[in-house]
Amino acid sequence: MNIAGKVEIDDLPRICPLLSRRTNPRFGEAQTRIVQVGSLRFGSERPAVIAGPCAVEDREQTLEVARAVKGSGADMLRGGAYKPRTSPHDFQGLGLEGLKILREASRETGLPVVTEVMDPRLVEQVAEYTDMIQIGSRNMQNYPLLVEVGRTRKPVLLKRGMAAGLCEWLGAAEYIANEGNFDIVLCERGIKAFSNGEYSRYSLDLNVIPAVKAETFLPVIADPSHATGVAAMVEGASRAALEFGAQGLIIEVASDRLDASKPKCDAAQAISPRTLRKIIHYIDGRQEVLAEGAHAA
Ligand code: PEP
Ligand code: MN
Repeated sequence: MNIAGKVEIDDLPRICPLLSRRTNPRFGEAQTRIVQVGSLRFGSERPAVIAGPCAVEDREQTLEVARAVKGSGADMLRGGAYKPRTSPHDFQGLGLEGLKILREASRETGLPVVTEVMDPRLVEQVAEYTDMIQIGSRNMQNYPLLVEVGRTRKPVLLKRGMAAGLCEWLGAAEYIANEGNFDIVLCERGIKAFSNGEYSRYSLDLNVIPAVKAETFLPVIADPSHATGVAAMVEGASRAALEFGAQGLIIEVASDRLDASKPKCDAAQAISPRTLRKIIHYIDGRQEVLAEGAHAA
């Protein structure tokens, strides 16, 4: 049958000639193009860990969580200043004030930061304050936004649309690359499947990770927090994603002080700094085993 808009994996050289492995044989079958954010290298031997609050709520909360994730061994700080919320009556983020708080937290901890931009008119503003720009799941196919971000020279974290196939996701990345910005890290963050809030928020599509790596040279990381929506699932989802080849993780963390206030968004999926430390220890152990294996070979 002839169907309009039908895409197949074999269409990737046409959809994304700049990013497809097939049209860029210099990357071979497995080489990743490193994306550098400060001294952090996405796509290198060691998975990168981004952690922090869902949203920047105030200065004290952000600094506290930033210090805690640094203490747990995270490589980079996350936090939303502009939040995509289901209802316009929900907390929308602090905007510019939030960006300034993130900058301060970055300066104090030495961690580079990633934060989301949703509005093409705010790309310049967000780029001024952040080390990496996040395109959220809901905006993966906002093509004018992708073009605008592609015109900056900031590294981009491109989350997978919650209902996007691999070709659509890589097609979105191509919009950024087409403007000359190849510093793109892809992020699998769960897709709409059968869970729909019954037992988890989305479904972590582990299988897409090796598929992404087969089809493009861009690094790919996973977001176990939004994929599951359940704090108790985050550690297992993190390990699973790493075993499937994820080159990093982005994880939501909240204070575990007994008198700390509950996060204004995504509280149920936030893990404690202690659990984050466990995940990072798991990475350390894994790296040792991999290094021993490489040594023995
Ligand atoms: C986020 O990381 O803050 C976020 C909103 O994630 P997503 O776009 O994947 O839902
Ligand atoms: Mn969140």
